[in-house]
Amino acid sequence: MHTTDVAILGGGIVGLATAYRLLERHPGTSITILEKERELAQHQTGHNSGVLHSGIYYKPGSLRATNCREGKLAMQDFCRKENIPFDLCGKVIVAIDSSELSQLQKIFERGKANGVQCSMIDAARLKELEPHAAGIQAIHVPESGIVDYRQVCDRLGQRITEAGGKILTSAKVKSMFRKQGRMIVDTLAGDVEARYVINCTGLHSDRVTRMSGQVPTAQIVPFRGEYFELKPTAQHLVKSLIYPIPDPNFPFLGVHFTRMIHGGVECGPNAVLAFSREGYYKTSINPFDLLESVTYRGFIRLAWKNWRAGWGEMWRSFSKPAFVAALQRLVPEIRSEHLVPAPAGVRAQAVTPDGQLVDDFLILENDLVINVCNAPSPAATASLNIGKLIVDKLGDRLGT
Ligand SMILES: Cc1cc2nc3c(=O)[nH]c(=O)nc-3n(C[C@H](O)[C@H](O)[C@H](O)COP(=O)(O)OP(=O)(O)OC[C@H]3O[C@@H](n4cnc5c(N)ncnc54)[C@H](O)[C@@H]3O)c2cc1C
Repeated sequence: MHTTDVAILGGGIVGLATAYRLLERHPGTSITILEKERELAQHQTGHNSGVLHSGIYYKPGSLRATNCREGKLAMQDFCRKENIPFDLCGKVIVAIDSSELSQLQKIFERGKANGVQCSMIDAARLKELEPHAAGIQAIHVPESGIVDYRQVCDRLGQRITEAGGKILTSAKVKSMFRKQGRMIVDTLAGDVEARYVINCTGLHSDRVTRMSGQVPTAQIVPFRGEYFELKPTAQHLVKSLIYPIPDPNFPFLGVHFTRMIHGGVECGPNAVLAFSREGYYKTSINPFDLLESVTYRGFIRLAWKNWRAGWGEMWRSFSKPAFVAALQRLVPEIRSEHLVPAPAGVRAQAVTPDGQLVDDFLILENDLVINVCNAPSPAATASLNIGKLIVDKLGDRLGT
């Protein structure tokens, strides 16, 4: 049996950032990352939009707001130190008509309260920044940026290994139990005995929380986000990041345009129920996952309350003209022939039994296990700070 001080379950950006911070604070601690895939960052982290979020949207004082602000600076420092390209290309959040102005103002006030560098701009300034965007008014956030989070994860993995950490891939965690004050983690790569366990398993975090003996307060419901990419001939229509006013009832930001760090422009994502926790295609169906979602009280309540919005998202998923229409609200010159399908991502969204989407980060802990139960966007931006928060929670327990 392999023994370790800390077993970190999940090799996405949150698990890796936690391991990195742990070794930084407690050098010499033995750490083992257990990842079920053959490579790191194959799920949410490897399928995201690559945006360095500024933290403008989040409720002041929430974990998302504070960790996003500090985490973004930490991510930029890490990238600078490691020569990983990133670009603070700026972003605009646009109000298309007067009905959206009050919501725009609310976002602006949140941004100010969160200490985000942002300004309210008129249509003329918007045209200078994004000549092809529609909108009567907008918020300009010059500090928003783009990066490749897979590249960040590769480097984190390298630094963790150099500092003595172990990364075991193809090591799916099947169960765990307590034995004499330690945790025994049963994986496909063998058993691991750990003094402490940190669960960062994203789309499976509720199931793994249950394995650890804790009862999750919310269930993960997977939402697929589908994307298109602009063909090279249409890429001039977007200079940086163009976002709509999001629906305040949902934690998703609405279909938007994202310039990517290695070139190209991504358009999307929408948000539809994924029929499998790792269902990247419309045809990916896992009967167990699907049944678990559609029979969950929380999901039924959520769907009942929001059937109109849900139906709109589904319609956009099956109808390219509907997707194009959503994009044309932001950039009217976009045409269907400018778009080619791009890989989708699946978000792990925690939903409470009464049908609420948990919009803040959610961490549950006992004496031996820390479970990251909800780490939605901007968790990639915030990851180095989430890692720090978890290391704080481990506190003096390590005794190093
Ligand atoms: C479409 C989309 C766009 C997004 N855009 C952005 C963005 O632009 N900026 C931003 O900051 N955030 C963005 N996010 C959010 C961000 O990507 C996630 O919040 C973040 O990646 C979560 O990281 P994680 O490590 O918790 O999860 P993951 O990256 O999903 O990692 C979890 C890991 O756990 C492993 N695992 C699961 N079960 C087990 C098991 N039983 N045993 C062992 N290993 C297991 C998985 O294989 C996986 O590697 C986006 C997310 C999505 C889906």
